[in-house]
Amino acid sequence: MLRKVLSPSECAKCKFCCSHRRASLWETPRFDLTLLEKLKRKYPFAKFKVYGDYATMDLSGRYKTDDPEEEALCWFNEGKGCILGEDKFFECAIWPLSLMQKGSQLVIALAPNCKALSSKREEMQKLVDEELGEKMFVHAEKFPLSVKDYREDYYILKVKEAY
Ligand code: SF4
Ligand code: SF4
Repeated sequence: MLRKVLSPSECAKCKFCCSHRRASLWETPRFDLTLLEKLKRKYPFAKFKVYGDYATMDLSGRYKTDDPEEEALCWFNEGKGCILGEDKFFECAIWPLSLMQKGSQLVIALAPNCKALSSKREEMQKLVDEELGEKMFVHAEKFPLSVKDYREDYYILKVKEAY
């Protein structure tokens, strides 16, 4: 979805978004149980956690040390980019944008830690204003679990009031 602004080759080289410190596991994508069953069949090596009516990835077994700065790579990245193809999670497809709740507002916010985008904020704003923003709000209505709590270091690009 972000190809107009960020090339897949830039992300494949970087991989930052596909690995997590323990403190950033809150960012792992959430998905419904239908997709979970499909992923379990196609990728039996991957581990997941189920929380009621949604699931996320279980990366706990990917850490090799107790170092809190250690990054564990997602099950679906073998070093050459994401292997999920059409099954790629919506949250991954829009990253480093996120749907977030800020009080009564639903916001589209840009994560602060993508170096490739630090000089392209205006292009991202245009993409969100002209095509992506409304798609993201529709997704939030259909799948509210993809909406994370707002964090102050995220840069807000679009707001929907009274969410
Ligand atoms: S930090 Fe930016 S460039 Fe790196 S993988 Fe994430 S979106 Fe791509
Ligand atoms: S599912 Fe794909 S894009 Fe998402 S974190 Fe894993 S490897 Fe990266």
